[in-house]
Amino acid sequence: GVAHALTVSPRTPPAVVPSHGLAELRAREVSAWFGSHHVLDRVSLTMPAGQVTALIGPSGCGKSTFLRILNRMHELVPSAALAGEVLLDGHDLYDPSRRVTQARRDVGMVFQKPNPFPAMSIRENVLAGLRLTGVRAGAADKAMLVESSLIRAGLWREVRDRLDAPGGGLSGGQQQRLCIARALAVRPRVLLMDEPCSALDPTSTRVIEETIGELASQVTIVIVTHNMQQAARVSQQCAFFLASQGLPGVVVEHGDTGAMFSVPQDERTEAYVSGRF
Ligand code: ADP
Ligand code: MG
Repeated sequence: GVAHALTVSPRTPPAVVPSHGLAELRAREVSAWFGSHHVLDRVSLTMPAGQVTALIGPSGCGKSTFLRILNRMHELVPSAALAGEVLLDGHDLYDPSRRVTQARRDVGMVFQKPNPFPAMSIRENVLAGLRLTGVRAGAADKAMLVESSLIRAGLWREVRDRLDAPGGGLSGGQQQRLCIARALAVRPRVLLMDEPCSALDPTSTRVIEETIGELASQVTIVIVTHNMQQAARVSQQCAFFLASQGLPGVVVEHGDTGAMFSVPQDERTEAYVSGRF
């Protein structure tokens, strides 16, 4: 693809290198299939700019599939099909004239299992996303991006003296924060997180929750979580996904997290948030 030059002023303090501006992500009547298996049915959801939206619901109801649709990873599966629209600030993410690398740069992803490149240095791990999405940057910009991304991911103080050490030598929680730094380095407008703390201990989980809270004003966040307390702590908006026996996943209810947890409108939501299934 065509390289895209970074324009970071050398005088910008590292901690405040901005993202490319807040963006609203909107799914409109999104349906998905794997072959003949219908896994999502007409999901419509607005994920407001600068807020954290939590996706909750039992396993297998299509949360990960939905998240992957939001940055065009869904189309990497040969049997996958899609209907509906995903709009990033009103622009169709699947517009054929829009490059997929642009979509991946605008909408970053962090997975359940920390997946840094283990043999690659911490520094190179942070910078890896730039290459993958066709962003060109000079040495000074790179150094600044490494520092600012690690600061934003809450990892800088722990690794500043060993940026050339392999990413695989970090603890699980540190590796996940390294993956967050890698996602942030391309300065996405939206950050998707698929159960980012499920593989981590409570301390690392807390650190990442704090990081999410700090990032939320700079980047729109969508997080899948099975932990209701976590959804309540980190999100302002919440969507409850459910796939009833043999049927595709749907959004049963969505809205303000506090309201949904205290006064759920649907009895299935109430049963789920109160731990009755
Ligand atoms: P969740 O994240 O809510 O647990 P998923 O999105 O992973 O749910 O899965 C939704 C449904 O889609 C499941 O029935 C799952 O088996 C199916 N599925 C997910 N990924 C694929 C794939 N790559 N190929 C075929 N089926 C898949
Ligand atoms: Mg999942």
